[in-house]
Amino acid sequence: MFKIAIDGPAGSGKSTISKLLSSKLNFEHIDTGAMYRAITLKALKLGINLENEDEYDFLDDTIIELDHDKIFLDGVDVSKEIRSVEVTTNASTPAKLGRVRTCLVDLQRKIAASKNVIMDGRDIGTVVLPNADLKIYLDASCECRAERRRLERSLAGVEKSFEETLQEIIVRDHKDSTRAISPLKVADDAIVIDSSNLTIEEVINKIIGLVNERVNKSMSEKVITFTEGQEVVGTIINVSKEAIYIELEGENKAVIYDNDMAGYVEGQKLRDYYFEGGEFKGLVKQITKDNRSNKPLYILSTKLYKAREEIKVFDELKEKDEIIKAKVIHVSNAGCDLLYKGHDDIKVFLPAKNIYLNEKALHSLRGEMIDVVVTNVDHEQIKVIVSHSAAQSKIRKAAKEAAYNALQVGDVVEGVVDSVTDFGAFVKLGELTGLLHRSELDHKLVRNVSDQVKVGQNITVKVIKLEEGKIGLSVRALTPHPWDVLKEQYHVGDVFEGTVVKIINAGLIIKLTEEYSGLMPNVEFSWRTNERIEGNVNEGDTIKVQVMAIDNNKKKVSLSHRATVENLWANINIKPGTVINVEIAAIQEKGAVVNYETISGFLPVNEVTDAKRIGKVDEVYPVGTKVDAIVLECDPGRAKLVVSVKKLENQKERAEFDRFLEKQESETPSTTLADLLGESLKKFSE
Ligand code: C5P
Repeated sequence: MFKIAIDGPAGSGKSTISKLLSSKLNFEHIDTGAMYRAITLKALKLGINLENEDEYDFLDDTIIELDHDKIFLDGVDVSKEIRSVEVTTNASTPAKLGRVRTCLVDLQRKIAASKNVIMDGRDIGTVVLPNADLKIYLDASCECRAERRRLERSLAGVEKSFEETLQEIIVRDHKDSTRAISPLKVADDAIVIDSSNLTIEEVINKIIGLVNERVNKSMSEKVITFTEGQEVVGTIINVSKEAIYIELEGENKAVIYDNDMAGYVEGQKLRDYYFEGGEFKGLVKQITKDNRSNKPLYILSTKLYKAREEIKVFDELKEKDEIIKAKVIHVSNAGCDLLYKGHDDIKVFLPAKNIYLNEKALHSLRGEMIDVVVTNVDHEQIKVIVSHSAAQSKIRKAAKEAAYNALQVGDVVEGVVDSVTDFGAFVKLGELTGLLHRSELDHKLVRNVSDQVKVGQNITVKVIKLEEGKIGLSVRALTPHPWDVLKEQYHVGDVFEGTVVKIINAGLIIKLTEEYSGLMPNVEFSWRTNERIEGNVNEGDTIKVQVMAIDNNKKKVSLSHRATVENLWANINIKPGTVINVEIAAIQEKGAVVNYETISGFLPVNEVTDAKRIGKVDEVYPVGTKVDAIVLECDPGRAKLVVSVKKLENQKERAEFDRFLEKQESETPSTTLADLLGESLKKFSE
């Protein structure tokens, strides 16, 4: 459809030009000025205050109809009456009122819908037909327009002076161009034609030239088409009972059915809400073919249009990754359709693969409110994809986090062994899983985890580590350390009967607890150095021992047997040089162990005799021999007694020699040589 808008001040020739053009182009002419005049006429007739908008209630039941050049007011032809001076001078007053303009602009658009029209007035290009194919602003000097108007009236038998008419024109121009609503002004895309020095013919030709230019241009322009999901604006050309027909840009036809209308309530009359000529905004829902024209027919939807706005809510929910509750309204094998709050025009789809349930349970979801998270928002298709499983894993994650945060190192908790590996066992603690490392199973070394724990077994564990979401567990920590148990049981000074576990070179290994043994060093067996373990004690025997020391660092316990018997050395105090009678008790490499009363001592092999070279003591004194010996060293603190037979013999020999010398001295006075010998012997013995 081609629409021509002609605007301009009074007397610029709009009506004349428009009428001629309409017959030349076979377009319908709509004289909007005549409409304002008709309303002015009725207002004058009703005698209302023209300035008072509240007095225009008559508009509601006023009928204005155009038929070629004739105008009918409530069914009466008022074509002549509206040209009276009274109407002309007053027409600008009702025309400035919003109520009057809204009413007439609606009517003008309705009449112009789906027709080729030429519409003239003051606001056609700017307000009534902003999308007109051609906009002309017809102008002329005030004088020229005043003379035209005066002549026009004179021909109609009404005489008015040029000055008076000029004044009237100037006043009307001022009123029309300064009013607040829809003032007369040149539309941005209008072509201005000044007709002051042009004949009517010239103006007509100019406009027809422009029309041809535009028609050719639009024909050569690409055919305009729309795509599904596209937002479109058009003009309503017909409103039926169940549908509205719309003309879109590029002469495209569209229709919207009541069930595609946002907010439509069953039984509503579309005609009460929509009218021909009105603007319509919607979204292309589907493209079909118009059977009559074979051109595309666009099925529109305002539900989708509204939904596209509303879908932004889901963008925000997706951004926040928030869990939302939505109602399952339909279930199929492909998934579920959900409804979220009031957004019933948006398809919220939960694909079956995003459901945290088996197929059977899926159907039980119908009517349920379920937790989901938005995973995809398709603005084109107005479709939202959600995931139930993602929501479930979020919920589980949150529960896990809460459970983890509630745990504290030191907590003792019940768990179930979930799996067993070489390095330990994983234990389920409700939602959480902790690691019970092999080293935490027992205080003693565990070689095979599976010997200690079995999958599915209930187990009490202690939380020993919480680090970066990981949980370290221990069973070991629940039982006291065996060393601590030992320390409870044994104290330095305690005497007990211990079992000999093993005899080693260093002494006896004696059992203390299941885990620990103590060492009794050889020296701690007896106060007698010759008293040996071998022969006296066997593995498995029990022996009375005393705890001498407990080394916490090395976890070692030293024991003594001899500490439990009387210390025979306690009362021994023999000065070196004393002669004692000892018994050869045992032969050793470097000498012999000798017994003296209750203690024992040592006779080194080189302290046996000077008489001959010997390798072993028993070459002179077999075991059991009792012999006098001189004490060389006696240290009770170290239980050490060293004796010498040789030195005693030497002493005896010297004594004998001394006695011999004494005897000689008494028999022979000259003792010079003996004296000398005696001196040297003394030195020797020292
Ligand atoms: O064009 P005509 O002189 O018949 O218009 C009469 C009056 O109606 C104008 O002076 C103007 O105030 C008003 N009018 C208008 N808007 C139009 C047409 C006319 O305000 N579109």
